[in-house]
Amino acid sequence: MTASSNRIAIVTGGARGIGAAIATRLATDGYDVAVIDLDADACSETVKSVESLGRRALAVAADVADEQAVRDGVAAVVDGLGAPTVLVNNAGVIRDRTLAKMSLDDWNVVIDVNLRSVFLMSREVQGHMRAAGWGRIVNLSSIAALGVVGEANYAAAKAGIQGLTKTMALELGRFGITANAVAPGFVVTDMTREVAIRMGVPFQQVVDEMMKTIHVGRPGEPDDIANAVAFFVDPRSSFVTGQVLYVAGSPRC
Ligand code: NAD
Repeated sequence: MTASSNRIAIVTGGARGIGAAIATRLATDGYDVAVIDLDADACSETVKSVESLGRRALAVAADVADEQAVRDGVAAVVDGLGAPTVLVNNAGVIRDRTLAKMSLDDWNVVIDVNLRSVFLMSREVQGHMRAAGWGRIVNLSSIAALGVVGEANYAAAKAGIQGLTKTMALELGRFGITANAVAPGFVVTDMTREVAIRMGVPFQQVVDEMMKTIHVGRPGEPDDIANAVAFFVDPRSSFVTGQVLYVAGSPRC
């Protein structure tokens, strides 16, 4: 099988935000897309967007931090669309608190959804990529991997993703599979809007604060991240693996 004969992608956390933009971009680039998220109904807009581009779409409900749910979810994709050769591990959550106030539950949820999920999903899908002799894994890290006050759990998970990505690149390269990470800076999505709500400040105040660290004069949009993901997925990017691309509107990450 070749890259062009089996164009089936999975995007986790694709119901909204960056994941929805990635799913739509992959459809534009000729992929059928399975969207895995907690609630299949919440994926309906993404499914519509993929189908409007003439590609097949499938919404699968699964908690990507749960081993059995991942097994069943990937099996549903294989049944519904065929064997996936592209996996974008995008699902993520935040539970911000300073270290002193962080509960074990805050720690576990963020590590499990952001990091364990990447291990579980990649382990489950890589067999299909090996069978195809071709595959692309792209993981969503973050500039938070470099450290952020109040995000010990999230920073650890996103830094962990970078090590996991590099290791997968080493182990899977000889099967025609690349593994790379995109590390976004501040992107306008529900996740960042919810930060403002939790802080009890207007969203614009958060944007203004973040703009002090962004040098291209605007905050990030989901399509900015989808574009970087599309570069790694491109069959012509087969010599690029184990890399972390910071997409943050600034060289200072
Ligand atoms: P978002 O909160 O808008 O969307 C995340 C999606 O993941 C949601 O649809 C949610 O339902 C899904 N999800 C959460 N837990 C899940 C689980 N256990 N199983 C399956 N799906 C689950 O977030 P976003 O801003 O679009 O972020 C997407 C990714 O990009 C995340 O990994 C995030 O950490 C990363 N990121 C975002 C930013 C930013 O500024 N928005 C910056 C850096 C990195």
